[in-house]
Amino acid sequence: MRPPTRPSPDETAHEQRRLQRAPGFAEEVFDLIRADIMSLRIPPDTRISIDSLVRELGISQTPIREALSMLEATGFVTKRRYVGFCSAPQLNRRQFEELYEVRGLIEPYAARMAAQRMSAERLAQLSRLAETMKPGASAMADDGFADQDSELHDMIATGSGNTIIQESLARLHAHLHIFRLRSNNEVTAEAYAEHSRLIECLLRRDAPAAEAAMRDHIEKSYRRLIPFAPD
Ligand SMILES: [Zn+2]
Repeated sequence: MRPPTRPSPDETAHEQRRLQRAPGFAEEVFDLIRADIMSLRIPPDTRISIDSLVRELGISQTPIREALSMLEATGFVTKRRYVGFCSAPQLNRRQFEELYEVRGLIEPYAARMAAQRMSAERLAQLSRLAETMKPGASAMADDGFADQDSELHDMIATGSGNTIIQESLARLHAHLHIFRLRSNNEVTAEAYAEHSRLIECLLRRDAPAAEAAMRDHIEKSYRRLIPFAPD
């Protein structure tokens, strides 16, 4: 990631009423804090101090506040009255069970619909994405697998052609909670094989088999995870 840059005082004076920093600046701060939350460098349910970030990153409060608002919208942080921004709390066992109950309802159906409705082009993209998740396929960042798994499931939910399904799944923030609880290395090989089976069914346009393959993937994911969930 590029280090954040600050406009020189000259530029600032000149551009006072115009764009004062490169577009995407808050996005860089967003990526940085998001990575810290995923890697547990910022533990769950912990206050995120804007002043500390100002000092650490050598930038003003504005892009940090913007980034934190974006993180709030994506479920990574919550804003508490009198406290400020905090990293999302860890789910307990019961909450993980609920999360998987809902995934088990939504995602197999989404896969069934995607088998019928996804374009050949999107399916080809999905296959390529799944291949990049092959264990040892590339030097992946710590949260690379989580991001790609999130994208893969989102593509299938989108491929269902039902916006409410896609939005409902996105709102669960499943990948934040799952991959923060358990490190990636242990799950990648199994998940890769399950994704491959699922994508084969989608490519064959076999809707019932795609539904069953997704159900199987979610059930196995649940069983891999639940022993690690805190009471
Ligand atoms: Zn998956």
